[in-house]
Amino acid sequence: MRPYWLDIPHRPSPALSRDLHVDVVVIGAGLCGSSAALHLAQQGLSVALLEGGHIASSATGRNAGFILQGTAERYDRAVEVMGRERARTVHALSLENHQAMAQAIQTHSLDCAYQKRGSLQLASSAEEETELTAACALLNEDGFEARLIPKERLPPALAQTGHQLGVFLPGDGEVQPARFTRGIVNAARQAGCTVFENTRVSTLDAQQPGHVQVHTQAGHSVHASLAILATNARAGELSDWLVDKVDPVRGQMLATAPLPTLFNAPIYANHGYDYWRQTPEGRVVLGGWRNLDPSTEVGHEESLHPGIQERMSDFLRRFPWKEQLRVTHRWSGTMGFSRDGLPLVGPLPGQPGALCGVGFTGHGFGFAFLAGQALAAMVQDGQHAMCTALDPRRF
Ligand SMILES: Cc1cc2nc3c(=O)[nH]c(=O)nc-3n(C[C@H](O)[C@H](O)[C@H](O)COP(=O)(O)OP(=O)(O)OC[C@H]3O[C@@H](n4cnc5c(N)ncnc54)[C@H](O)[C@@H]3O)c2cc1C
Repeated sequence: MRPYWLDIPHRPSPALSRDLHVDVVVIGAGLCGSSAALHLAQQGLSVALLEGGHIASSATGRNAGFILQGTAERYDRAVEVMGRERARTVHALSLENHQAMAQAIQTHSLDCAYQKRGSLQLASSAEEETELTAACALLNEDGFEARLIPKERLPPALAQTGHQLGVFLPGDGEVQPARFTRGIVNAARQAGCTVFENTRVSTLDAQQPGHVQVHTQAGHSVHASLAILATNARAGELSDWLVDKVDPVRGQMLATAPLPTLFNAPIYANHGYDYWRQTPEGRVVLGGWRNLDPSTEVGHEESLHPGIQERMSDFLRRFPWKEQLRVTHRWSGTMGFSRDGLPLVGPLPGQPGALCGVGFTGHGFGFAFLAGQALAAMVQDGQHAMCTALDPRRF
């Protein structure tokens, strides 16, 4: 059940064991909260980062580590739903997010197996072929790099498994997500942020900016001028307003022992439901197949779905690894799906002393690092383009 990415040593920071006064309290040390804490501390503010479990122990350490551009919707669908201008803006923000992550990796010398090899979207049916072709054309029209790959130029292993066509997006990348996030938290510590793990927040009172109070399950309080809520799928537990905006949705994952390399970039197929990659050491990390049983893949329980896990193993058996194929890790994780498919980044309605970065809808590595940076900019300057485009008050 332990995610492959978290199968590395970690010495947790101590839990909060006294009351505290800081400028900003950040709740949740996933990608978004960790990034917010770093950027706030870099502004010279006193910051406390409170995490109910461990750093990256939720979605951030349980995902596939793809750094993809755009939302969970294909670009043609995004244009249909959001309109051309807004779809282009949101897409450009995800590319800016990737750039910011790459910059942070360089600045803080993060050891996180980052690679920028692009990504490949595959069509699994004639219908999807038409859709991907349309999405590719629209991306190009809007100035984003995307290339159609006909079946005969797909890697042989993929053409043999019935995929007809691909769209290659050279701007995408991949990372060891837990190492990246722990590295960001270390950088935040070095910038002066105080980190508390195993510190679950039970209430957030941010009715009055300047006089925010956070209470922990262990009975301690943090007094702050402002709070940042970065609790993803659990957002509704600390904000009544978010209860019907962000829903917990479970995803299944597995990882294999190292195998000969067949895939040189993250791949997603079947409308994004199925996705896989090979790590630098050759392990296949594979996830998805949620559409086989969407009604049970909801809620906060990080349990395995035997039927879906079996189908994922079956899929791997289609490739010519034969007896070398060995699954070493199986796990699941909970995503925060927003009701309109877009993250909520900015002022938290009903709590004027709080900002939030939640609801990344299965694509948090495309948005959440920049979201943390944007929330820090909101604290300092009162504005950021991401908080305009993804303002929670749109609901
Ligand atoms: C199986 C799976 C595969 C995925 N694959 C990808 C992918 O390849 N690419 C991609 O872009 N995205 C992917 N995602 C989504 C991505 O992982 C998330 O969107 C992203 O990690 C969200 O980051 P976050 O900081 O918002 O949330 P989280 O990582 O969930 O962090 C929230 C933190 O808040 C803490 N918390 C919650 N409540 C409290 C409380 N009351 N008090 C204190 N702390 C609290 C939690 O313990 C948690 O650590 C995937 C997700 C899953 C589950």
